[in-house]
Amino acid sequence: MGGSDGILGNRSVERGKATVSTASGKWLKRRETWLVILGVILHAVYMMSIFDIYFKTPIVHGMDPVTPRFKAPAKRLVLLVADGLRADKFFEPDSEGNYRAPFLRSIIKEQGRWGVSHARPPTESRPGHVAIIAGFYEDPSAVTKGWKANPVEFDSVFNRSRHTISFGSPDIVPIFCGAVPHSTWNTYPHEFEDFATDASFLDEWSLDQFQSLLNKSNEDSKLKELLLQDNLVIFLHLLGCDSNGHAHRPFSSIYLNNVKVVDHIAERVYHLMEDYYKDDSTAYIFTADHGMSDKGSHGDGHPSNTDTPLVAWGSGIKYPKPISSTNHSHCSFRFVDEHMHDTPTPKEWGLDGIERVDVNQADIAPLMSTLVGLPCPVNSVGSLPLDYIDMIEVEEVEAVVANTEQILNQFLRKSYIKQSNSLHFKPFKSLANYSSILDQIENLISVREYKAALKLSENLRSLALQGLHYFQTYDWLMLMTVITLGYVGWMIYLVLHILQSYTSLPGNMLRKEQAVRQRNYTGKVYLCGCLFMGVLSILLFLEHSPPLYHAYTTMTVFLWTQIISEYWFIKALWKHLHGRKFNYIIKLLATTAVSVFILEFLVNSFTDRNLYTWCFLIVGPTASLYLFNSIPWRSGIPIFVCMACWFLSVFTLMPAEIPDNNQLVIVSGVMIILIGVVARWLDLHAEGKYWRSISKHEVKKPKFPMLFQLQALLVGLSSVMVSLSTSHRTQKQELLALHQLINWSIAGFSMVLPLFSANGLLSRLTSIFLGFAPTFLLLSIGYEAVFYGALALVLMAWILFENTVSHLSKDKKSSASTKNADANVIFEHDERCLQLSDARIPLIFMVLFNIAFFGTGNFASIASFEISSVYRFITVFSPFLMAALLIFKLFIPFMLVICVFSAITKLHRLPRLGCYFLVILFSDVMTIHFFFLVRNTGSWMEIGNSISHFGIMSAQVVFVLLLFALTNIYTKGVECNSALITSQKVIFSSGLELGSFVVTSNVLHHSWAAISELYGEIHEPPSSASTVRFKIDDQQPNCTIIAFVTWPPCTKEHLQGRGGRDFVSSSALEETFPLFEFLCTKTNPRFSINKPAIDLFASVRGVLGFLKSQISTKPLIITGHSLGGSVASLFTLWLLDTINLATTKRPLCITFGSPLIGDDGLQEAILQYSAWNSCFLHVVSNRDPVPRVLISPHNPTAPELASPTNEYKPFGTFLLYSELGCACLEDPDSVLELLMATYSEGPVFDYKNIVQQLKGNVICKDSTKVDEWIAQPLQAGIITQLAAVGLGRPQTERRERKWLIRRRDVYDSNVLNEMKVYMAQLEWYKKCSEDEQIGYYDRFKNAFDSSDIKAQGFKKSLTCYWIDMVEEVEKKPQRKGAPFTTRWLYAGTNYRRMIEPLDIAEYYRDGKTDYMAKGRSKHYTQLEKWLSEDEKPANRPNNSKKQNLAGGLTENSCFWAYVEEARISCEVLSNSQSNDMDKHKQSLIVFEADVMGMVNNNAVSAEIFLKHSSFMKWWKEYSEIIRKGIMGTSYTSPFTDFMQNGQFRRYAPGGL
Ligand SMILES: [Zn+2]
Ligand SMILES: [Zn+2]
Repeated sequence: MGGSDGILGNRSVERGKATVSTASGKWLKRRETWLVILGVILHAVYMMSIFDIYFKTPIVHGMDPVTPRFKAPAKRLVLLVADGLRADKFFEPDSEGNYRAPFLRSIIKEQGRWGVSHARPPTESRPGHVAIIAGFYEDPSAVTKGWKANPVEFDSVFNRSRHTISFGSPDIVPIFCGAVPHSTWNTYPHEFEDFATDASFLDEWSLDQFQSLLNKSNEDSKLKELLLQDNLVIFLHLLGCDSNGHAHRPFSSIYLNNVKVVDHIAERVYHLMEDYYKDDSTAYIFTADHGMSDKGSHGDGHPSNTDTPLVAWGSGIKYPKPISSTNHSHCSFRFVDEHMHDTPTPKEWGLDGIERVDVNQADIAPLMSTLVGLPCPVNSVGSLPLDYIDMIEVEEVEAVVANTEQILNQFLRKSYIKQSNSLHFKPFKSLANYSSILDQIENLISVREYKAALKLSENLRSLALQGLHYFQTYDWLMLMTVITLGYVGWMIYLVLHILQSYTSLPGNMLRKEQAVRQRNYTGKVYLCGCLFMGVLSILLFLEHSPPLYHAYTTMTVFLWTQIISEYWFIKALWKHLHGRKFNYIIKLLATTAVSVFILEFLVNSFTDRNLYTWCFLIVGPTASLYLFNSIPWRSGIPIFVCMACWFLSVFTLMPAEIPDNNQLVIVSGVMIILIGVVARWLDLHAEGKYWRSISKHEVKKPKFPMLFQLQALLVGLSSVMVSLSTSHRTQKQELLALHQLINWSIAGFSMVLPLFSANGLLSRLTSIFLGFAPTFLLLSIGYEAVFYGALALVLMAWILFENTVSHLSKDKKSSASTKNADANVIFEHDERCLQLSDARIPLIFMVLFNIAFFGTGNFASIASFEISSVYRFITVFSPFLMAALLIFKLFIPFMLVICVFSAITKLHRLPRLGCYFLVILFSDVMTIHFFFLVRNTGSWMEIGNSISHFGIMSAQVVFVLLLFALTNIYTKGVECNSALITSQKVIFSSGLELGSFVVTSNVLHHSWAAISELYGEIHEPPSSASTVRFKIDDQQPNCTIIAFVTWPPCTKEHLQGRGGRDFVSSSALEETFPLFEFLCTKTNPRFSINKPAIDLFASVRGVLGFLKSQISTKPLIITGHSLGGSVASLFTLWLLDTINLATTKRPLCITFGSPLIGDDGLQEAILQYSAWNSCFLHVVSNRDPVPRVLISPHNPTAPELASPTNEYKPFGTFLLYSELGCACLEDPDSVLELLMATYSEGPVFDYKNIVQQLKGNVICKDSTKVDEWIAQPLQAGIITQLAAVGLGRPQTERRERKWLIRRRDVYDSNVLNEMKVYMAQLEWYKKCSEDEQIGYYDRFKNAFDSSDIKAQGFKKSLTCYWIDMVEEVEKKPQRKGAPFTTRWLYAGTNYRRMIEPLDIAEYYRDGKTDYMAKGRSKHYTQLEKWLSEDEKPANRPNNSKKQNLAGGLTENSCFWAYVEEARISCEVLSNSQSNDMDKHKQSLIVFEADVMGMVNNNAVSAEIFLKHSSFMKWWKEYSEIIRKGIMGTSYTSPFTDFMQNGQFRRYAPGGL
């Protein structure tokens, strides 16, 4: 469509779009907010589902303990738990070959049993101790309870004991003893856990407490009595290893030394006990709650965390059993955990010859219970490890039976609860006959078949455990289905939203069409949804399901209801896809496939970090090759991109457990400064078009000139602090409070600084990069510090890449803006819609976001944090602060990525929330995948990781959103010059755009506010001579306003008075005031300017320099009222010549009620630069006489006005306002005509009211036009056009009466509005057809679609209306050239050109021929006749014809009839059976010559050249005929040349 501006052309669509942007923008905002909230809730709710699915608490209440029927092998039990002691560090020798636990080794070798106890994730202290002492695996949510030391809610060995003595950590001991009355316990205060020093004294503390208790008992007889009871349990919790492991990591000498300490404590406890009791009836168990990873953390399922030592000895424990082979016996059944405990014993442990018996951690509880002859804790799922216990056979059996019955009781209880709640209960079949098995066991015992009884009993126990598992997972299928459906529904819902709100799909249009049907339908869908939801809720309620189940189903049903309610949109979408070209479908599929591939890659990367290395190794060269093709090698950008990618690829090869390397941290500080310096240099000095949009060239004084230096200094300082703090620490000293203070203040201060940086893209991002560097460095311990720099380089590469891409696409399709006009999508003013290729950006974001996580040595698991990295900030163990710091460290790379992401959306002018939703959509693809990957079998490492992957992905929605909000603080002010560049080329290609921009963006409002403020500041009384006042308002956030007024204000009389209408010619100006010489050109050598205006302008000549110096990078608005407006116009003109447009934006001049200032010479001078013309917007009220006084005939004192030589001419865009509506015009003739026609005498209308009525979303109640304008974007264009026609008030009373009569008949406002709507609908129809490469003529002719039928309806109504109209007019007496007819014809012609082709289409579709003679309706002929009578070619300048007539519509409304006739001729010729071949040949030649003529006159719409149009079909047939030689051998004509050499493809009205 080139640059044409049609009456019904696409511009009006755009304009309408912008006009409603505020109203619908609000709607979109609401919807976005709603979606974000929904997303957060949904992910939170569904994430909780894993607690219901995988982490349901296993505890049930109401079972009775099973009293054992055997004699206790030991009187008392000592339990030693070395917190955080991992098995290998315990068993293996040190580098010199000495074992660290000599005492316990001697026990293993001489008097006890040993094995590895396997803990289950979460390998945290509380769950570990619960498993040991209570015998079950708590759900991980209990980890959080650990800090609160809640009292016992479950049964434990301690509960069952006669008395329990317990010493240890305040985090552990109270959990078990807090609510047990028969216990003696004590804990040390939390402050003891300061982990900067050696924590082994904590272990000593526990021992000391115990020792003093024993000593005390020698004096305290009561205590002594207590201690001498049987069923006594003594528990010493030894925290040293855990604290030292966290602080110094498990391979540090401090940790290893702590192992020795623990061993020594075990030895001392043993001797203490033996010395005290001397009865040889004490059993000892030494174990650990969990291990410790190499990074000094625990929590996940890695063997270093799960494998803990177990050593048991003393009364009731078997002696070591030597074995010949290394194979140790196979363990009994394992609950859920199918983890095989058969890792061979490492050679270096030196325990090959002694049988090793591995247990699950929970097995220790029944072991302890059995040893002291207590009932097992009722919730225990542990299987008694018989290999440890030294009992006679019958008692062994009894012990196992007791264990079995206890587990069976749990099963029965669960089964009972489930059954009583379920509507449809499915029992666990294998245990249907459990009572008979029990009887059988009793029988076997009574007949002393102990082996068989044991076997049967163990079988029953494993069945009971399976049964427990069965009920634990009873609801899985249902839950999984509901949640998967929910995720899928959410994704579809998101896709629909993205399509409807951010893409160019004509979604809203489709919806509008069906709005009525939709409304009905939606109601029904919602009703059904509610009913369904209700039924489900009742069912769930009857089953006593947990409340969250309701939440899951409600959420899922809700989402699907929403989707189904969009049925019409989906249907339309489907149709739309069907209608699209094959290529498009392929592209869509390819994009989907690539996205899925990348997402799957990311899924895999969770388990294999190294994948990123490959990814970046490949992406680097690929991206740079791509760039190499399009931008000069010299720029260095391709090489940089490749290098940056390769550099980043290194990091995922590094070990996940970051080795300490302070040198590296310090060096990377230097590197970060270097990167900063280079970025800074580029920002200030880089040249070339690829840099312009991201760097800042305007030399503007920054607020803080030394900011960059300060930031670099802080980075340096943090490097120094890193080395200081570390060297201090390695000397085993506590961190100095001073260091701590400095570290905190550097970190805090540096993060605030970026807020004050210049807001060019590159400078702001550099500042953010430097701002977070100190904090990150202080939190770093090794290579991740370098990673920070590498990540920044890759992000820079990404920006450069996207920048290049955006330049390329801009170069390629300068008409990209027309694409956006595809739909009435609503955006903030300068965002564009999402396209398919934009999926790239969120995808790259996802990859970078993930590498930001994995690159710093994280791997996705429950606890993989490097705690030692916080020691530069805190030394005292405070879990929440530490966790906060660690999470913050994770945040920093994410922040960088998101800042760059935000910047790129600005660079591309993409809707940021749209991109966010895409990110969410993509991460949900991964979430679903992870949801299915969550497993409940395999090693606990895998289970734990699969769950944490799912959790991480689910949290990403909230996480990304949170980071978006956070980084928004930093990136809010970022400005890309890309918008600036485009605005330098073309500000607004048409006045309509300018008008709507000004109206919707509040610019108008601010301008008028500046003017009225200026008036308010003037206090002196008006003098006789006008003076210019001006005011600079640079307080506005996005623009600078310079306002001009005159004082006293100019009146009509003033201009009508002496000299008010005088001209000063350019030649006269040259001598006195040579500022406007530049307007004179060869073709346009002279012009004249209104004398009062130029005089006033000359009076401010002195301050021009000052005013110019006030121009900053912000857009400049120059405004003025009345004659002040004239001064503003002149000032703007002068500026346009003098400012450097390469660095400064073009100003926008808005005048209010300003008189015209120049003649046709000035007009011509300005019009020759289209960009100049669009710098001016003149707002004129119909009540304001001043703008008209120089031209209008209302001026009785100026009869000479009519003389054509002395005429004022308008330029720029005019926003004409009346109470009836508002019109925006730039055709100078129309402006002139309307300025004269629309004047209505009355009280002078204040522009304040106009501004208010137009401002934003204010809907003026008593003006239906404005109302309508805002509500109906599509029609706005036409409404204003027609309103402009109707605006004209007849000048005489007589004509007014006539006018009123006519208006009552045909211009009845309701009917008229309807007609406007129909035209708008048809216009849209036409637009859609063009997009489908068919053209509306042919689409209508083919009529295969419901929208075609609709179009037919509109057509019919319009035709009826116009037939009546024409008849009406014919009846009335006509006055030749009456202005009424002229304006009325404008709409009629439009109608004819739009509708007659459809009539023709209908006519030929029915197989009729010869439309011109037989088919044409009379009213068309009449309309055409009137037009030809009215058209006086001399009156109309060339450009207006181009603009007004050719835009999208073919001038000759019968064109298609000729085409059809030509096709008939072709058919006749190709069949060559007719007699009158020559006649047909002749008509074809005439036709093609006609077409050529129309093309040359721009009189035909480009639409005819669309691929599937009838015209092109004709041309195919015709060229065939030519090829056959029917038209004569080697026939050519200008037309055939035009078609054959493809010139027609470049045809656009006005484009040739
Ligand atoms: Zn622990
Ligand atoms: Zn710990």
